[in-house]
Amino acid sequence: MNTDAHKAADLIERIARLMQAEEQKGHLNPVQWEALRYLAKANSFSRTPAALAEYLGSTRGTVSQTLIALEKKESIKRTPSARDKRSVEIALTPTGQQQLANDPRQKLASCIEATRTALPLREALSQVLNEAILRNKGKSFGICASCHFFLRTDKPGNAAMPHRCGLLNVPLSDKDSEKICVEHEK
Ligand code: SF4
Repeated sequence: MNTDAHKAADLIERIARLMQAEEQKGHLNPVQWEALRYLAKANSFSRTPAALAEYLGSTRGTVSQTLIALEKKESIKRTPSARDKRSVEIALTPTGQQQLANDPRQKLASCIEATRTALPLREALSQVLNEAILRNKGKSFGICASCHFFLRTDKPGNAAMPHRCGLLNVPLSDKDSEKICVEHEK
């Protein structure tokens, strides 16, 4: 295998470990941080324990423990799902939102900013991630704009919910359509 590819993999691993060490200093562990970040950017259909497990590449049991811990810390709340009575929908509480405002990942973002490589780095890492997802037969977790089920409409009929999801048959606001989705397909 290409030596540069090995070196890049080492660097990614090293940065991830530094980040995890930073995250361990606070009152949330790295998995709890990642769960909060996911819940902040996922649409309502995707804020379920099953979708979170899929996103984290984790088991339902492990995710359940993470959610119990986050609930005890008052970072999230769970309510019965309006779409599927057997499931729950998870949302961040104001405490969870406040915790995210002090996300230790901001330190890494400012290091990237300082190197002035944010855009090419983001594009390169996106390609690596997409390749890894493809090889693992995982879900893409993209946004509506790149999903073939997305029915965009610019007609002013319903300004609050102008678009539609062709898969779930529900209306979507502009804001909904910018969130990541477990059902996303290219
Ligand atoms: S259009 Fe695609 S990404 Fe958007 S909500 Fe529907 S399935 Fe999810």
